[in-house]
Amino acid sequence: MQYLPLFFNIKAKKCLVVGGGDVATRKVKTLKSAGANVHVVAPEFNHGLTELLTQNSITVRQGEFTPADLEDVVLIIAATNDTAINAHISALAQQNKIPVNVVDAPELCSFIMPSIVDRSPVMVAISSGGASPVLARLLRSKIETMIPASYGRLATLLKNYREKAKKKFDHVADRRRFWEKIIQGPIAELMYSGQEKTAAKALEDAISYAAMSTRNPGEVYLVGAGPGDPDLLTFRALRLLQQADVVVYDRLVSEPILEMARRDADKIYVGKQKSDHALAQEKINALLVRLAKEGNRVVRLKGGDPFIFGRGGEEIETLMNENISFQIVPGVTAASGCAAYAGIPLTHRDYAQSVVFATGHLQNNTIDLNWKALIQKQQTLVFYMGLTGIGTICAELIKHGMSATMPIALIERGTTIDQVVHVADLASMPLVVQNDTIKPPTLIIVGEVVTLHEKLAWYEPLTL
Ligand code: SAH
Repeated sequence: MQYLPLFFNIKAKKCLVVGGGDVATRKVKTLKSAGANVHVVAPEFNHGLTELLTQNSITVRQGEFTPADLEDVVLIIAATNDTAINAHISALAQQNKIPVNVVDAPELCSFIMPSIVDRSPVMVAISSGGASPVLARLLRSKIETMIPASYGRLATLLKNYREKAKKKFDHVADRRRFWEKIIQGPIAELMYSGQEKTAAKALEDAISYAAMSTRNPGEVYLVGAGPGDPDLLTFRALRLLQQADVVVYDRLVSEPILEMARRDADKIYVGKQKSDHALAQEKINALLVRLAKEGNRVVRLKGGDPFIFGRGGEEIETLMNENISFQIVPGVTAASGCAAYAGIPLTHRDYAQSVVFATGHLQNNTIDLNWKALIQKQQTLVFYMGLTGIGTICAELIKHGMSATMPIALIERGTTIDQVVHVADLASMPLVVQNDTIKPPTLIIVGEVVTLHEKLAWYEPLTL
């Protein structure tokens, strides 16, 4: 081991930063967030640092570094761009036994600064021992993605119940097993999803009834899987997928996303194809209830966002009535995903100040929409489920006053490697659909913004 990792308490202690540039600014921020009494010395301060100094209680001395600056200092960071001054500070500090870090000069340091993942009170510090700060930073971003943002809040909650648990369990091993179960179980998930009061109550109960409880109650996570590209999953969606005992999924959920579930998880398909009548909604609701009551952690995986044409509301209503705990994880909806991957901004200063998401689903050969309200100047329209009804959509828009030359885009299997974007106008799009073999799912965007596709298209998957 080249260095000994330590966590240093510098609260209210005098720490010195020498330098007035960007690096110094970052160091001042870090020291400040650890509660230090920060002193900064430099002949001049850049804009960022000046701003920081005015907003915080930081002691500043404008001028060259002098040995007198070291008085009562417990830690020094030298961040000047003058190597001679840096070396001088390092030598002086080491003479006075004050820990010193000189930025980008490991040979002058008595300690080095790690990359930090801060989930206070939980801290992860990463170092490559000065070998490659970039490598340490990349490792840090990997760890960032693995640790939920509210890990720290979970830690604080657990701390508040430590004593209580200690009294309850005489044996250390029992206590450890108990905490492991809590940290990997539904109570932790409640914290991550912001249901903190419920989590605290559940933890309280878990400790009180620890000896009696035999089985975890199940729960349901209603998770948005995004429009197709697995990279568009949220961190939370991925984490829950990897924990779930059962995954109940729709037709829209792409194969690569399903593959991210635990290998041994049950995967139940409840997809609805227009032609076949797969599980009716009530049956899906009942299935979720049964699985949860059997003690499973169920991920109900839906394409896009569960609350946008996803019937997510109905599913959680049933869960609520049955007292089954659940959480909802938003996803990138098809409109955002397809628009981004097709290079069609849904709003734009010059072309659209509002955007409407509408269903293009045909019922008895009509689409029940307030067409007049849809047709507004500088408004983008996005139709979900509109492929079969494309003729009706275009005809109704024209009938209610939209120009027949209004640009329209149809995005086939957006965000996937099979994405195809068709651009036409209202008059001709039905013909395009008739003459091409178009594969669902497809999303329709109507409005001037569609003209930007030609310029902004960037996503170009190869047919390999
Ligand atoms: N909850 C989903 C929408 C479900 S409705 C969401 O938020 O995206 C189903 C419709 O979504 C499809 O008919 C299609 O219009 C649209 N859709 C979903 N994924 C799509 C994709 N990858 N490309 C194009 N359209 C998509």
